[in-house]
Amino acid sequence: MSVAASSGSLAPSWLGVPADANALAAGVWPAAAGRDADGVLTLGGVSAAELRERFGTPVYVLDESEVRARARRVLGAFSAATARHAGRARVYYAGKAFLCAEIVRWVTQEGLGIDVCSGGELAVALAADADPERIGFHGNNKSVAELEAAVAAGVGSVVVDSRIELERLSAIADRRGVRQPVLLRVSSGVHAETHEFLATAHEDQKFGFALAEAPEAAARARELPGLELVGLHAHIGSQIFGSSGFRESAARMVELHAQLSADGELAVLNLGGGFGIAHTVGDDPAPIEQLADEIVDAAAQECEVRGIPLPELAFEPGRVIVGPAGVTLYEVGTVKPVAASDEQTRVYVSVDGGMGDNPRHALYGADYSARLASRTSDAEPALARVVGKHCESGDIVVDAEYLPGDVAPGDLLAVPATGAYCFSLASDYNFVPRPPVVAVRDGAARAIVRRETIADLLARDAGIDTGSPTEGEG
Ligand code: PLP
Repeated sequence: MSVAASSGSLAPSWLGVPADANALAAGVWPAAAGRDADGVLTLGGVSAAELRERFGTPVYVLDESEVRARARRVLGAFSAATARHAGRARVYYAGKAFLCAEIVRWVTQEGLGIDVCSGGELAVALAADADPERIGFHGNNKSVAELEAAVAAGVGSVVVDSRIELERLSAIADRRGVRQPVLLRVSSGVHAETHEFLATAHEDQKFGFALAEAPEAAARARELPGLELVGLHAHIGSQIFGSSGFRESAARMVELHAQLSADGELAVLNLGGGFGIAHTVGDDPAPIEQLADEIVDAAAQECEVRGIPLPELAFEPGRVIVGPAGVTLYEVGTVKPVAASDEQTRVYVSVDGGMGDNPRHALYGADYSARLASRTSDAEPALARVVGKHCESGDIVVDAEYLPGDVAPGDLLAVPATGAYCFSLASDYNFVPRPPVVAVRDGAARAIVRRETIADLLARDAGIDTGSPTEGEG
């Protein structure tokens, strides 16, 4: 059955009817994505058909070469930008975007440190043998146990978020007879042009010290016996396409850095992450080299005005490294034309995953795109909405996309640019087990995180006797 349907104004303004509904847009798909002679999508040289057969669906597929190339590219961009001002850059991969042991190995082998924001993330980084000295530990409410673990591991920096935490961390380090290097998280007051929940440096939010409070906090950090204040930290938000917010934040942070440097050395200025990626053809993020140059130039210029040397600049990109390297494969279960108005029909394509494996549309209204993966088709494109199998009408993976009008149950559908904040934000809502992560490279595929099973879910339920330890025993 063909479900090609009129689309009219139901499509968002950025989405045109594609000349080829099978095309894989550059910048949205991993560089190595392609199609084999039968039209089947290939990722890292592995066909989607093989991935379905070996690992089932839904499945997160991560292109290892793409992650590594992106890590190298980002490090190269910031190193080159700071070198132009006789400075130095460090890049920490933000594990919150996607974390497992293999990715820690990939990015550390490419020369990056790791940014973690919980005891769990720290444990993964350490289990994968990340150098503790090259780990930064964030979070607005780290527990005493998490701070203990960070100090015990010897993490290179703890990013302190509050007065209470300054005292808490100093007491822990002092008791252990060490001085813990810390950065102060500062809210630079910049309003990033992104979703409200992704913008983190405006005043009325939970992270860090206000600019005006920072001098007092720095003085206290310098007084406390267990702490060594090594620098400042700011992060203005995520999925940001241009440099203006970053430049403004860099200038404000250099001003504060200059002020606080008068009372003692501050070696590091960490300007956070947040560099955007294209999820659809409607997204147009600036290349990382351009962002790096513009941000570093803004910091260097402000240093020059204030007559101080450029401090070591640190950055914490997550999404831009891993996001475009990930593609989620789903199997289509049902296809349903729905009359969205008297004249317009939207095709609802239900897949075997949904907001459990990708909650970003439900959380942020994020847009994604999709393509048929198991074949190509010349059928007339129809405006579709890709929805999941969860019990929510907001369970939308791809809000609007033109798919070949003959899309049918059993087809494989691929959603690109899902490498960041999908696996890491996933839930087992409705007791739908979370998908595995499969790494592809040079024609080979291997699971780097196995699929969650119903048995995994039952094992935590103390009311079911599965022989697994219950609370307090695990
Ligand atoms: N650093 C901090 C402090 C963050 O909160 C985040 C994410 O929100 C990041 C880095 C990574 O951001 P992104 O993945 O957008 O680069």
